[in-house]
Amino acid sequence: MRKSHLIKPVLGNDYPVISHGKGIYLYDKEGKQYIDGSSGAITANIGHGVQEIAEALWNQAKHVSFVYRSQFTSDAAEMLAEKLAEYAPDELKSVFFVNSGSEATETALKIAIQYFQEQGVFTKTKVLSRWTSYHGITLGALSMSGHQLRRQRFNSLLEDFPVAPAPYCYQCPLKDSYPGCGVRCADELENIVQAIGAEQIAAFIVEPVIGASGGAIVPPDEYYSKIRAICDKYDILMIADEVMTGMGRTGKMFAMEHWGVIPDIIALGKGMSAGYTPMAATIVSDKIMNTIESGSKVVMSGHTFSANPQSAAACLAVLHYIERNNLQENAALMGDYLQNHLQRLQWKYSLIGDVRGKGLLCGLELIKDPMTREPFELSNKITDRLLSICFEKGLLVYPAVGGVTGFSGDSILISPPLTVTKEQINDIIDILDQSIGELTNQLISEGLYITEATS
Ligand code: PMP
Repeated sequence: MRKSHLIKPVLGNDYPVISHGKGIYLYDKEGKQYIDGSSGAITANIGHGVQEIAEALWNQAKHVSFVYRSQFTSDAAEMLAEKLAEYAPDELKSVFFVNSGSEATETALKIAIQYFQEQGVFTKTKVLSRWTSYHGITLGALSMSGHQLRRQRFNSLLEDFPVAPAPYCYQCPLKDSYPGCGVRCADELENIVQAIGAEQIAAFIVEPVIGASGGAIVPPDEYYSKIRAICDKYDILMIADEVMTGMGRTGKMFAMEHWGVIPDIIALGKGMSAGYTPMAATIVSDKIMNTIESGSKVVMSGHTFSANPQSAAACLAVLHYIERNNLQENAALMGDYLQNHLQRLQWKYSLIGDVRGKGLLCGLELIKDPMTREPFELSNKITDRLLSICFEKGLLVYPAVGGVTGFSGDSILISPPLTVTKEQINDIIDILDQSIGELTNQLISEGLYITEATS
């Protein structure tokens, strides 16, 4: 007999039962406190247990929580779309609501293909992406993802989309180095487009800062303007997957603002509702919407729960909370503070090969050899081991494995809620310091690692 009927991420593992959350802290039913150092899956952007969001959900639910989008619109959904359009670049003013990041990127894929079909172009059906990437778990979104660990059992069902080398300077897939390389990884896109044939390619999708498969990889300054120029030259749409990076996480509302480049479509999720309800969105340019409006008039996507007023009300309240508490600014300031302290840990532990990130999307890459930057074998489960040591000590961080090949590389994301304070970051660093020290000693005693801490 099964003790639990709920299918867990890893069968047989014990998961603590959550009791409640407050701010950056979570508490299980045994009374143990955890610092939410990864905002769950980089989602709980405003922290836990915020009363006004609970009230917004309740106030909407009292009136009506669900209407079918083919029959009604609602004030909450209209106001949320307006607010997102205000934040988006001037060229992107239309919003399509879905329920998860995967649905948001998959909707982006469909809209891109539809955009060309409305113009009588039926060959543009491929959406290219980069090898170090994750855009979601549904088959369309997974087709666009290079994440081999997620793809491996389903490869025969997936389109063969990812093609481009990632702008991953610490482990350059082209074995080059910045700035001497001239950002060759961006030029590679043009070679690939020419080889495949631009007439087959509808879009190129990017995570502005690469998250789940790379651990906060930040492309060089010139990268996105080069990508934008190639997309324009070959009539290819540019999709920014801001599911993880959006809503203030990197210190700007949308991370692409750091590069000053305007995509044609933006996918949002996670921090949009900050986890208070499942909600995500695809924001689309006027160029695309005008084409669909003067054609079939119907965006070929949608789900039962799309644009439900209850989720929209919660997201609106989250946005107001972010604005009122200047959380974008706090993310930028606290992100610098966190990165500084992570760099100090890097001086201490040669196990830490790289520290990187933007705002409060920060990453550490763990390596076997600081000189060659050689990663550990995946079977050494270095990331998992660090995660469980931190977990024991009451700190939650997020695994980002995959690396250049999709089967290598150990990175973690340290991305607390945007409300985090300096004192709380000090606590996070203390636990990380102890945990990395403990992991280093374990690895040395197992003969997997030779270098000791330097101070
Ligand atoms: N895109 C990115 C960049 C993500 O990080 C994720 C989730 N980690 C997704 C899409 C998929 O979102 P969801 O899990 O909500 O479907």
